[in-house]
Amino acid sequence: MSSCNNICQRYRALMPKNCGRYSLGQKRCNECEIFIFWDGLFCPCCNKRLRLAPRTSKYKEKFLDVKLSKKELISNGM
Ligand SMILES: [Zn+2]
Ligand SMILES: [Zn+2]
Repeated sequence: MSSCNNICQRYRALMPKNCGRYSLGQKRCNECEIFIFWDGLFCPCCNKRLRLAPRTSKYKEKFLDVKLSKKELISNGM
């Protein structure tokens, strides 16, 4: 059973032509299966947590990379 109340339709985000949705600040609600423009972390419609990041595995890799290079920078600077 979905908790979607169709409120999300009011915040529905349009598909961008050239850039990624997430870079435009659009967020994905898995419950409503929709991309919305919304400032909060939770869906205004179903109150589920919104997805901010692109594909999770890639995002994780990138996150690790940033962490590593930061560490390197710090040790090099000392
Ligand atoms: Zn909804
Ligand atoms: Zn929702």
